[in-house]
Amino acid sequence: MPKTSRKKFLIKSLYLITSLSLVERGFRLTSELKAETKFPESLPEGQNPVSESDPTAKALGFHQDAKHTDFNLYPERKEKSAKNQVCKHCAQFSKLNENWGKCNIISAGVVSSRGWCSAWSQKS
Ligand code: SF4
Repeated sequence: MPKTSRKKFLIKSLYLITSLSLVERGFRLTSELKAETKFPESLPEGQNPVSESDPTAKALGFHQDAKHTDFNLYPERKEKSAKNQVCKHCAQFSKLNENWGKCNIISAGVVSSRGWCSAWSQKS
């Protein structure tokens, strides 16, 4: 392969990789925004939803909508028994209204009653 053609190939590959990573990041941001603005009408006054990119939330695989859980990371979430394992049934959840509450573990805002993270434990 001539030197110029190899150089062009490398430059095109670099453009492609950069473009793909930007597109992937765009999709991820869009889905996070959708999840965070899903129930804005019932958001308690003065409260903000926990961002799914918050370090604690991310480390715990938190999503404002449990349906967006990474099922590759948490395959047990696909089981029928996990259906009711959402924030509103979690021991760490304190209800603020029908859709939102405070979490004792992820405290950087409010969590949706339909959320889930890997620290979930049954409310007694
Ligand atoms: S600890 Fe419980 S209330 Fe807090 S985010 Fe996880 S599942 Fe929801």
